[in-house]
Amino acid sequence: MGYHDMPTTERVKRITDRLCAAYPDRRPLLVYRSPFELMVSVILSAQTTDAQVNAVTPALFARYPAPANLASARPSDVEQLVHSTGFYRNKAKSIIAAARAIHERHAGRVPATMDELVAIPGMGRKSANVILGVVYNEPSIVVDTHFARVTRRLGLTDSGNPVVIERELRSVVPPDRQTDFSMAVNLHGRARCTARSPDCAGCEVRDLCPRRGLSEQGVEV
Ligand code: SF4
Repeated sequence: MGYHDMPTTERVKRITDRLCAAYPDRRPLLVYRSPFELMVSVILSAQTTDAQVNAVTPALFARYPAPANLASARPSDVEQLVHSTGFYRNKAKSIIAAARAIHERHAGRVPATMDELVAIPGMGRKSANVILGVVYNEPSIVVDTHFARVTRRLGLTDSGNPVVIERELRSVVPPDRQTDFSMAVNLHGRARCTARSPDCAGCEVRDLCPRRGLSEQGVEV
């Protein structure tokens, strides 16, 4: 049976199995030791690489080990520490405000619901889904640029809107596979299904993929 005749749920199941086998280590590339550290790292990771974030967080968390410490930090001190991640003024402001929110509203604990997470300064749905999936083992669909590109090529969404993509993927990926699917698809987008030169010939899910939006030569059309 080719992918043309296959129900979407069966195709998604096979894609998930194969990509999980291809990427057995699906933990976030961000280095963290607590939900608080992951939350701060996720906020800092906007518009930069995980490696850049990992380069600044040891000094940041050495100076501000708990939400209460960061909540009362001087913005200029934090700006200096996160400077190399870019947008450092906004990021410093966001992580101080986020630390204050979890210190004051959640007794220092990173909350475990989508509604509470997106109410924290600097946290969008993408970041909230990372926390829900990684920290709390809740079903999570993490829509970033890699995820959006790969799921579009796989013919699982036509949308460019992250909220719609998340909703559409939640409807075809079973809850107990959503976090695995998200992490594996993200890694696949970085490793093989890249923006500029997807390696379709070597791809683990080639026979399950309509390669939507790509020419025969693998160029975006
Ligand atoms: S076959 Fe090509 S377009 Fe489809 S997932 Fe693999 S690399 Fe991406």
